[in-house]
Amino acid sequence: MIRRNTNQRNIVFDSLEYLGHASTEALIEYINKNHPDFSLATIYRNIKVLTDEHKVKKVKLDGIDVYETIKQKHYHYKCMECGEIYDVKPEEIAFDMSKISSVNSDDICDCDIVFYGVCHKCKGVN
Ligand SMILES: [Zn+2]
Ligand SMILES: [Zn+2]
Repeated sequence: MIRRNTNQRNIVFDSLEYLGHASTEALIEYINKNHPDFSLATIYRNIKVLTDEHKVKKVKLDGIDVYETIKQKHYHYKCMECGEIYDVKPEEIAFDMSKISSVNSDDICDCDIVFYGVCHKCKGVN
C-alpha cells in the first residue's frame, strides 16, 4: 500500500516535471493519457501531498493557477501567442530588492514576476 502510494506520487511529480508548468486540468489530462487507471481523487490527493511536502508549488500566471515542481528561485515569461511558459533565472535580470523604497525590503519574503511577449518559436526565429 505504501509502495503503491509512493509510486503514484512519483508519477504525478514526474509528469509535472515533464510538463514544466501545468494547470490541474492539463496535469490530469496528461496523467490520464499515460495512466488511465489513475482516478481524479488520486491525482488531486497526490498534488496536495506533494504541495504539503514542498516538492510542488502553485503559482498564479496570467490569472491562472498552475503547478510546477520546486526548483531554484526563478521568474516567468509567458508567450502571448502560444501560451508557453518559460523560466527566467534571477541572474538574468539585474534587480536589487534592497533598492525598493516604497516598502521596507525586510518586509518582502517572496516575489512573483511574469514577463509577457512573443517567444522566439512563435516569431520563427531560432
Ligand atoms: Zn510562443
Ligand atoms: Zn517556473
